[in-house]
Parts: sequence; C-alpha cells; structure tokens
Amino acid sequence: MTQRVSFRDLPALDKLLSSEAFKPLLAAYGHQLVSQQARLILEDLRQNIQQNKALVIDLRSPHLSLDFAQLTARALQKKTQSQLRPVFNLTGVVLHTNLGRALLPEVAIEAVVEAMREPMNLEYDLASGGRGDRDDLIEELLCELTGAEAATVVNNNAAAVLLMLNSLAAEREVVVSRGELVEIGGAFRIPDIMKRAYVNLVEVGTTNRTHAHDYEQAIADNTAMLMKVHCSNYEINGFTKEVSVAEVAAIAKQHGLACTVDLGSGTLVDLRQWGLPAEVTVRQTIEAGADIVTFSGDKLLGGPQAGLIVGRADLIAKIKKNPLKRALRVGKITLAALEPVLQLYRSPELLAERLTTLRLFTRSPDALKQSAANLQQTLQQWVGPEFRVTVEAMMSQIGSGAMPVELLPSYGLAMRYVGEGRPGRHLLALEKRLRRLSKPVIGRIADDTLLLDMRCLERHQEAEFLAQLQQDLTRV
Ligand SMILES: *Cc1c(COP(=O)(O)O)cnc(C)c1O
Repeated sequence: MTQRVSFRDLPALDKLLSSEAFKPLLAAYGHQLVSQQARLILEDLRQNIQQNKALVIDLRSPHLSLDFAQLTARALQKKTQSQLRPVFNLTGVVLHTNLGRALLPEVAIEAVVEAMREPMNLEYDLASGGRGDRDDLIEELLCELTGAEAATVVNNNAAAVLLMLNSLAAEREVVVSRGELVEIGGAFRIPDIMKRAYVNLVEVGTTNRTHAHDYEQAIADNTAMLMKVHCSNYEINGFTKEVSVAEVAAIAKQHGLACTVDLGSGTLVDLRQWGLPAEVTVRQTIEAGADIVTFSGDKLLGGPQAGLIVGRADLIAKIKKNPLKRALRVGKITLAALEPVLQLYRSPELLAERLTTLRLFTRSPDALKQSAANLQQTLQQWVGPEFRVTVEAMMSQIGSGAMPVELLPSYGLAMRYVGEGRPGRHLLALEKRLRRLSKPVIGRIADDTLLLDMRCLERHQEAEFLAQLQQDLTRV
C-alpha cells in the first residue's frame, strides 16, 4: 500500500469484457448492460484515484478480472432486483392495503399461472364458437352465492361505485346519509367519486343520526337513487340512528327509485360461525331489498383486486352498456384468480382451511403463542442485548382500509429497549434494520415497543424467517 495507484492501473473495458471471468455475466445480462455497469465502476474508480480516496478493489491483484467481475455482478444483481418484493407482514393487519391486501389460495395461484401461460376462452363461447362476454365466466357463480339476478366485475370497488353511479344516476340526484359520506384510504371519498360520476349528491340526516323521513323528504323529481355506504373503517357510538337497508329499499321502491349499497368488504358467508365479528353478507343485503350491491374482491372475500357489482338484471344490463365499463374492466389474470376463490365458497365447511385470509383470521391464539416462542431465542440473538424480546398477547386487525375496527386476539414478539437513554430512536433504528433484511420484516411500534404479530406468519414460514436471521447473524 506504499506505492500509489494511478489511472494506468485501471484495466481496459474491452479487456475485462473479453476475459474469461466476464463470460457468465455476459450470458446472464447481455453485452449492453454489463458494459454499461463495468464502465460506471471504472469511472467511479477513476474519480476515487483522482481524489485520493480508498478503492473498493485492489488494482494490482493478480486476478483483477475476476475481482472486477464479482464487483460488476453484485452491482447488476442489485440493479435488476425487482422493486416489488415479498415481505413478512407481521403488522398484525391481515388485509393490509399497503402490503397488497388478501393473499390468494393456492388454487387461485395455479389458475393465474396457467392463464398467463396459455390462451384462454376469455371472450370466446366454446359451445357456439362465437364471441363471448368475459363476465359470463363468473356471473352464474356470483348469482348463486349472493342470490342476485345478475353480476359484473370491474377493476376494484372504487371503479364499481363510480360505474354504478354513472350508469344509473348521471345528471340526477343520489341521496346519501351524512353519517355514510366516508373516506377510505385517503384517495377514495364518496362525495368526490359522486362528482366524477356526474351525479348530484343530496346529503340527508346528521353525522350521528339519520331517520327514514330524512330520505323521504329528500326525494324530488330528479332523484334517481337512494344509496347506502358501509362504514367499513370507523364506528359511530353513542346517540346514533341509522336507517336499515330494508327500510331504505322500501322507501326507494315506493317512489320507483333504485336502492344501492356500497358494502365495501362484502363477505359472502356469515363470519360468526368461526367466532369472527358479525358482518352483513351480500346475500342478506340483496334479500333486504337492495337493487345493486358493490364490494371488493380483495378484502373479506379473499380474492384478487376487483370490484363486484351484483343485483337486478335490468340495472346490471345498463351498467354493462356504459362505455366506462370497457375502461374499467378486469383482465384475464383477475378472472382466473377470482373464479376458483368463488368456487371455494360452495364448500363453506372447508373454507377456513382453504381460503388463505379466513385461515389467518381463524388461527388460534395458542398456535400463535407457540409460533412466537419458536422464534424468540433467535430473534433475541439477532436484536442483541440492548433489546429484550418477550412473547406477549396482542391484538390483530382484520383490515387497514377494510375493517380496522375489528380486532382479533393474537400473540407475537415484543421488543423493548433496555439500554441507556430514551427508547424512541433505538426502536426506529431496529425497525429499519428489520426492513432492510433481504426479505423485509414489517412490524409496528406502539407504546415504546416494537411488535411482531405472528398472525400472518404461518407454521411453514417459520423456518424461512429463522433462516434469514441466522444467515444475517453469521454474515458479519
Ligand atoms: C374499501 C372500500 C371501497 C374501495 O374499494 P377498493 O376495492 O379499495 O377500490 C369503497 N367503499 C367502501 C365502503 C370500502 O370499504
């Protein structure tokens, strides 16, 4: 290290690229990308030599090409790594909107892979050889499961609400209770969607109380619809009054108007049979008299992102004729995933085992406690003596954007700072360390404690979680 390196010591790009060491790289990434990356590294080295800085590589090494190839390989690996990456969701929120909501059951995953690989009868009637409608693939099944006359599917529930409103009430009035003018996940607000659908919102009642006569008095010549919106993400407690779907539907019927319900999560089965919080089903809403119900595919349903619209055949026909339907339609990958998920609902007794989201909702606290205990020791080793890791009871949430108010008893690992000084900064640093693992671990901080909820780490994933920590421990 006594002799100073100079620009002369830098290898020529051509020589590197034609070396034996670069052959596998060229085969994997192609000439353009490899030469571009190698040139960048050379430029970096040149600058560092000029500024008299330490170099990442020994230019006098007897196997310089090999060292260089390794450096280039690492850079290319990083550069070509997918930006969309799998993570461990240990936030305790099962339907986490920012982490992609529902995890799909294996049958749906297989169907998606096949649909990507092979041509499909997406809009092709195999019986007649003529043109088909992509909705036909799942309409019958949706009707069977919900009791509706007809059904259609679009990109997500926000699209379903927009399309429904624009198709059935453009340039007319839609009556909604002030207690139901909700915002969901920031970008979806009922009043904003109504504007964009070209419908005029008529607000009735107050935030906490709306009565049947409020709806009745709001009906005018230009009224098209009475709409109810499910308050998926908040609760009004205390002195409250809400008009039921049945009552609103009866008023709508009397006046020849449509009654529509945006259910949001919209489950197809009564969740109480698994000890979960009560949630009105799509079928119950149809039976109560709703003419149209809209709901998401990737919330409680446990399927792909989609917006499902079910209800009266004449109204669904109108919705399908709207040119916006073409702009909001789903692709074959969505339909491929949705159909097998809906099929699972035909065997409700097996649903808790087969439907991934429901399996996660119904995991027993005992099993979760055992999972946490299995990870405790390795995690304690990984976090180091400045933190204490304990197995603790905590509460999971069903959803973030979806059903944040519904809590499930759970177990997980709690990490508390036991070193010098205040814990805040150290917990944030630990949270960051977890996020920087090659498969990032996402937890949550509450009351000066970093929590890793075990609900979404199934038994077969424990080994992967542990292996990553162990590997990271031996790396340094
Ligand atoms: C979640 C939700 C939406 C939006 O559905 P996306 O599928 O996220 O587009 C609309 N309305 C209600 C009541 C919801 O809960």
